[in-house]
Amino acid sequence: MEREEIDIFLAGAGPAGLIAAATFAAEGFRVLVADPGPKPGPAGRGDLRSTAFLRPAQALFERIGLWPALAPLATPLDGLRIVDLAGEPPTVRTERLFAQASAGPLGWNFMNDSLRGAVLAHLERQPGVEIAWGCGFAALVNRSTEVLIRLTDGRRLRARLAVAADGRASPMRDAAGIELSVTRYGQKALAFAVSHPVPHDRISTELYLDGGPFTMVPLPDAGGVPASAVVWMNPGPRATELAALPPEPFAAEATRRSGGLLGPLELLTERALWPVVSQRARALTSGRVALIAEAAHVLPPIGAQGLNTSVMDIAALAQSMAGQPDPGAAAVLARFEASRSRDIAARAIAIDLFNRVTRSPDRLAQELRQIGLKLVHDVAPIRRGLIRAGMGPPGQDA
Ligand SMILES: Cc1cc2nc3c(=O)[nH]c(=O)nc-3n(C[C@H](O)[C@H](O)[C@H](O)COP(=O)(O)OP(=O)(O)OC[C@H]3O[C@@H](n4cnc5c(N)ncnc54)[C@H](O)[C@@H]3O)c2cc1C
Repeated sequence: MEREEIDIFLAGAGPAGLIAAATFAAEGFRVLVADPGPKPGPAGRGDLRSTAFLRPAQALFERIGLWPALAPLATPLDGLRIVDLAGEPPTVRTERLFAQASAGPLGWNFMNDSLRGAVLAHLERQPGVEIAWGCGFAALVNRSTEVLIRLTDGRRLRARLAVAADGRASPMRDAAGIELSVTRYGQKALAFAVSHPVPHDRISTELYLDGGPFTMVPLPDAGGVPASAVVWMNPGPRATELAALPPEPFAAEATRRSGGLLGPLELLTERALWPVVSQRARALTSGRVALIAEAAHVLPPIGAQGLNTSVMDIAALAQSMAGQPDPGAAAVLARFEASRSRDIAARAIAIDLFNRVTRSPDRLAQELRQIGLKLVHDVAPIRRGLIRAGMGPPGQDA
């Protein structure tokens, strides 16, 4: 069978793979994306997570012409409220608001399914992009001038660069021989959506108590009532117990854990359970293979860092290959590796530390949490620097 020639092969049509395809196509490269899953229908794949994109991600979407397709689906986030709770039932101990109204929103929140649908519709209008659904990456041969790819349906390709966006279990990472370091925390994150009588005022709220954060990120109103996406981290057994509760007692537990700040919460969706892990590939490249997104790093869902970090990988790879005839050349991939590895490591270390301190029931850790929150907010240069960086303090919405 003849091998098809393309510039870039992308494994994985998750949110990162689709955004990468749009970005690389905007640089003028021919891209083929393969994903073993079926093409998502109008209702998506039932992903109950939402993603709060921060300013650097939005700037990339503007640059590649994707933002007009996304903007109508976004809930702008004008601020971030961090609340420290204590006691039983939990009540507010310290509260701080991070906002910079004059500079526009801090971020934009999307339900993952609607995000993917909009990026997909955009890609269908790009002539240089093909998406093969229902067949995945199977094998590769990494050569100095090209990478040979075989897909699970037997299709054979010849690409100049192969990009792994095939998720946390990344078959392409394994095929490229790149090792992984993994930290398990024994925690699980529950993701679901709720309605509530008190308006969110486009402010994302993070509530800290031991066990992990409880984060409420604004969504568009549901049936005329304010709504939010929630990520609630807990020790694994407690999370499993909560996931098994009937909707009403579950909503009562969630209301209690939220300190009642937005009034009684009502469950709008199913609940999804995600194991909380930190994973980092030991290298981002091998020959003509590059790893991005969860194939390269998985972070606990704290601080909206996951997909935002992935978008920075995509922007860096695009920048390294811009104007180059060969997107998989050694110099291109060396630039990519150098520009991303330190930032990924720094984020992973910061979130790991933050998670260990905030989940701890230890009194000292609880005091540290409160002092850290006051310091980050009340010292103006630190606060302004964090907002300008579009990151928020560690612990921004997840
Ligand atoms: C509860 C929760 C809340 C979160 N909130 C935020 C947030 O607010 N902000 C943020 O930035 N991040 C957030 N994250 C992180 C973010 O959701 C993830 O980083 C992101 O969804 C992962 O996208 P991905 O495309 O890397 O991987 P995936 O979505 O896992 O996609 C991988 C794709 O690869 C495909 N695949 C598998 N095998 C193969 C193969 N052999 N060949 C080809 N394709 C293959 C799969 O079918 C899948 O479609 C959150 C995470 C969690 C758990």
